[in-house]
Amino acid sequence: MRVTFLGTGAAGGVPLYGCNCKACARAARDPRHARLPCSALVESADTRVLLDAGLMDLHERFPPGFLSAIVLTHYHPDHVQGLFHLRWGKGEPLPVYGPPDSEGCADLFKHPGLLAFRQARKFEVFEVGALRLTPLPLVHSKPTLGYAIEGPRGQRFAYLTDTLGLPPKSAAFLRGWGAFDMAIDCSYPPQPAPRNHNDWLAAHQCVAATGARSAWFTHLSHAVDAWLLEERPSPAANVRLASDGTRIDIPDAGS
Ligand SMILES: [Zn+2]
Ligand SMILES: [Zn+2]
Ligand SMILES: [Zn+2]
Repeated sequence: MRVTFLGTGAAGGVPLYGCNCKACARAARDPRHARLPCSALVESADTRVLLDAGLMDLHERFPPGFLSAIVLTHYHPDHVQGLFHLRWGKGEPLPVYGPPDSEGCADLFKHPGLLAFRQARKFEVFEVGALRLTPLPLVHSKPTLGYAIEGPRGQRFAYLTDTLGLPPKSAAFLRGWGAFDMAIDCSYPPQPAPRNHNDWLAAHQCVAATGARSAWFTHLSHAVDAWLLEERPSPAANVRLASDGTRIDIPDAGS
């Protein structure tokens, strides 16, 4: 099972419009440091699942029929805005799973076009091709689900954004899940009282609370990048920072 981080930015991205901080200046000079809206592609055999749909060029990246499904964590614009281009397309209906949310985003539910919305419910397993997904409730300002994703040979990957900490039941599920790797929200550098999103410390606490084998921090803001440039802190030994384009192979269970 392969995971590719297509975007690793917080809302606003890096470089942030109008900002001249060190991180934004670096990203403006060198696009390898830019961060697009947070999203990832999970592939196993013939199954391709897009996690979140905030990239604005989805209609150009993925030809009709390429994606098995889109799976949404929540309906904030930086996670769904790419759907607005797709929906008036032609072709087969494209399944889009997301949490129950009476509002969704703008008029997506009213005018879904070829998007076939389906509700994912917490802890109710569903399958997309070769992948089994367990929705896990997160802590955010809109109804939000992370996903524990299992491949056909027991490969396990958890995608957990946007969130501040983890509900005890979600953490308990992951602690009992066996060896897995994960992506976790790290939107802020250390803050006295983070809101809606993890800061550096809360993200580390999530890794420790779940016993993840390894973790990639994502949903990173320009403020995190600027702080990293300034302070050069060392993350925990099993933590890495994702970049746009980072690709990881999730090993088979027991290997
Ligand atoms: Zn977000
Ligand atoms: Zn900046
Ligand atoms: Zn959000």
